[in-house]
Amino acid sequence: MTGKFEANRQWAEEMDRKDPLGSFRDRFHIPPGTIYADGNSLGLLSKDSEECLLRVLGEWKVMGIDGWLRGDPPWFYTAEKLGEMVAPMVGAEADEVVATGTTTVNIHSLVSTFYDPDGQRTKILADELNFPTDIYALQGLIGIRGYDPEEHLILVPSEDGLCLDEDRIIDMMTDQVALVHLPSVLYRSGQLLDIKRLTREAHRRNIPISWDCSHSVGTVPHRFDEWDVDCAMWCSYKYLNGGPGGTAFLYVNRRHFDTSPRLPGWFGYVKDKQFDLRLDFQHQRSAGGWQISSPGILSAAPVEGGLRISMEAGIQRIREKSMDLTSYFIYLVDELLSEGPYNFKIGSPRDPTCRSGHVALIHETDAWRISQALKARGVIVDFRPPNVIRVAPAALYCSYSDVYDICKHLLGIIDKREHEGFTESVEAVS
Ligand SMILES: *Cc1c(COP(=O)(O)O)cnc(C)c1O
Repeated sequence: MTGKFEANRQWAEEMDRKDPLGSFRDRFHIPPGTIYADGNSLGLLSKDSEECLLRVLGEWKVMGIDGWLRGDPPWFYTAEKLGEMVAPMVGAEADEVVATGTTTVNIHSLVSTFYDPDGQRTKILADELNFPTDIYALQGLIGIRGYDPEEHLILVPSEDGLCLDEDRIIDMMTDQVALVHLPSVLYRSGQLLDIKRLTREAHRRNIPISWDCSHSVGTVPHRFDEWDVDCAMWCSYKYLNGGPGGTAFLYVNRRHFDTSPRLPGWFGYVKDKQFDLRLDFQHQRSAGGWQISSPGILSAAPVEGGLRISMEAGIQRIREKSMDLTSYFIYLVDELLSEGPYNFKIGSPRDPTCRSGHVALIHETDAWRISQALKARGVIVDFRPPNVIRVAPAALYCSYSDVYDICKHLLGIIDKREHEGFTESVEAVS
């Protein structure tokens, strides 16, 4: 953290010259004519990912089925290899992480395993600000166990629709709760929950805890083993730049390797016996045991390139720059955009250690139309109802000058009332 910022472009350019991660920008394809501040929704394609995908296509072209064992590396071990690559970033051992499925499928796979209603303990504790897919999955899983989700899914309420009070979460960890499932980061406000503290408090009450870290892995360091998290899942296409719908990840603490997966599939079979093709299921004693299907080798290939870059940059340095960029953005909004006629507010926690990689910029009346006007000027951001523009200056390819320029565009849009030329109706993908 620099601790002091200046609202002029020369200062931002000077910071860019001194930025130890500055050179990584050249490894990415930045969509021409844009400032890309949407890496919290879909990270960009890197040259490394492109190369990995082309390599795998080439292997398929010349080897056909032999790619499973003769690819370099062999496709048969892709899932484990990617798990091993990402493990240090999340503070896990290599065999506790595997690249598999997609986030929602991994929620189903892990929560079905770790939600073990017993006696009084029949409920799942989640929160009302979680991403809808997590809630849908929990409702479905409660129903499968024969309980009514209306009664057995308890959602921690939020006072302001943006953030959660951790004490409130802890208060709701009662002896009726069989599992806690939380997001590491609230997708609208960017609030980063204290995974270590909440995990400890759940365990004090004998409740296992599952974490959806889609919005934090790749921009915040994690220490899953040290924090004794039970299980976690996250996508690869946000800060890890793994490609749209790319293969996701799951983590299982090794304490639980003997627990049987409740959604078994043949790729979770004991690895060196999988092709014995026996009908009695025996799971591999590793996170790999929670794989279900053949890995999507083409969706996993770009993930490797993204991870390579993140590992080279180092998650600690990524986090430092990310906190600095989001803090700089907040500073500029306070300085230049908080009063009339601009009237922007910050909806994210102001303490950078309680914030992930994006800032929720609030505009009470015109957030949607302003986000469209930004896009028309080549500033790629997204909108989350009712009034939030999410600005994500991803550390690997965004600069201090980008952050400065985004604020200049916001000033220009309001000064010229450009947003008034856009329709009020919200598009399907935003
Ligand atoms: C991005 C995200 C997802 C995405 O789920 P998919 O199954 O990949 O579509 C799920 N949960 C959270 C919290 C997310 O941020």
